Amino acid sequence: MRISMVSEHASPLAALGGVDAGGQNVHVAALSTALARQGHHVTVYTRKDDAGLPPRVRILPRLEVVHVAAGPARHVPKDGLLPYMDRLAVGIAEDWDGGQPDIVHAHFWMSGLAALDAVRRSGANVPVVQTFHALGTVKRRHQGADDTSPQQRRWLEPAVGRSADRIIATCSDEVFELKAMGIDTAKISIAPCGVDLELFREAGPAEPRPRSHRILSVGRLVPRKGVDLVIRALPLLRDAGFDDVELLVVGGGGEAAMGADPEARRLGELARELGVENQVTLRGQVPREEMPGILRSADAVVCTPWYEPFGIVPLEAMACGVPVVAAAVGGLTDTVVDGATGLHVPPRDPAAIARAAARLLASPELRLELGRAGLQRARSRYSWDRVADETEKAYQQALAAIAAPQLEPMEGAAL
Ligand code: UDP
Repeated sequence: MRISMVSEHASPLAALGGVDAGGQNVHVAALSTALARQGHHVTVYTRKDDAGLPPRVRILPRLEVVHVAAGPARHVPKDGLLPYMDRLAVGIAEDWDGGQPDIVHAHFWMSGLAALDAVRRSGANVPVVQTFHALGTVKRRHQGADDTSPQQRRWLEPAVGRSADRIIATCSDEVFELKAMGIDTAKISIAPCGVDLELFREAGPAEPRPRSHRILSVGRLVPRKGVDLVIRALPLLRDAGFDDVELLVVGGGGEAAMGADPEARRLGELARELGVENQVTLRGQVPREEMPGILRSADAVVCTPWYEPFGIVPLEAMACGVPVVAAAVGGLTDTVVDGATGLHVPPRDPAAIARAAARLLASPELRLELGRAGLQRARSRYSWDRVADETEKAYQQALAAIAAPQLEPMEGAAL
């Protein structure tokens, strides 16, 4: 199959951990790679967000990234990208002059707009498959006035959902949200995110740690990831007798940028207020290759977001045999099995985080048991090859849907 991936803000080539560079970048890169390795031809269209980027970059024999000139050739926060989607669509449709794809797979709602528009402009009879990665309805519910998404997302996102030929939800919770948005569940498939099982393994070196225990938080440094909740759990852990615990926080800008990062400042101030500043290390952005050694150095990985469309970090921890403390929200209710591969906690509950972390820190046996089960689960359920197979099934269903003859009602027939 010739597959066009559209990922407006999340390039598979970008460094991870910045405000707008996380799971979607990993997802698009890994899924495209797995599909290309399985014999498909994949082209990823993304916005040219740096003047130095070449128009096309070949990553593998059957995988290339096309940088489309759409808006300024510099980083623009994703919530400011809507005005450039028509230009992105034009660039994609122009590129298809050299050969049309069999399927278009859009990532995030704005890419969906560009993909549908590119199909319309080119006149191609190509189905559009949509993965939202995150939904505006959920974001608004949790972030309220702090949600900087453009107003138009309220009606354009459901319209993308209605117009796309097939939707891929990454977790079961998302299916309920999509249904509530008025999207026909018959056209929804579930294919989760995967984890790179070559990179994230149990065996391998672990970074040395400065204290007897280490708990780890990894992710973009944005308030909704709930790192402050883990900092609030530290004094409670101390009261429970665990005072030699480091909380390592990975993510945010590069180290140089950390002083200027508002969330890093907020977290630093909170740690000082609570008297735990010498237990908290803000590492900043870490290259992907260093992540397994960091994960293996931790007794537990703590993922306590307010909400989480999927969450790749828990899978990476599981693949390294490390137990996860996870807020029971969104994708984390699918990936982390409470009491088997980790411990669930209610959202926004530092006391529950402290209790769960204390259970794990107190018992190397429990850590080992949950870590082993996590490893099994990651390996059996979440390889990118398996995710690529499930994605391909959704592509086949989308192709079948547009190939099916449209039944015209017979004249005079009772409707
Ligand atoms: N990540 C990284 N370096 C960092 C911070 C994060 O490589 O400094 C990676 C992390 O390992 C994971 C991804 O970024 O693969 C974050 O994905 P997740 O789905 O957990 O969160 P999202 O960013 O999509 O909200």
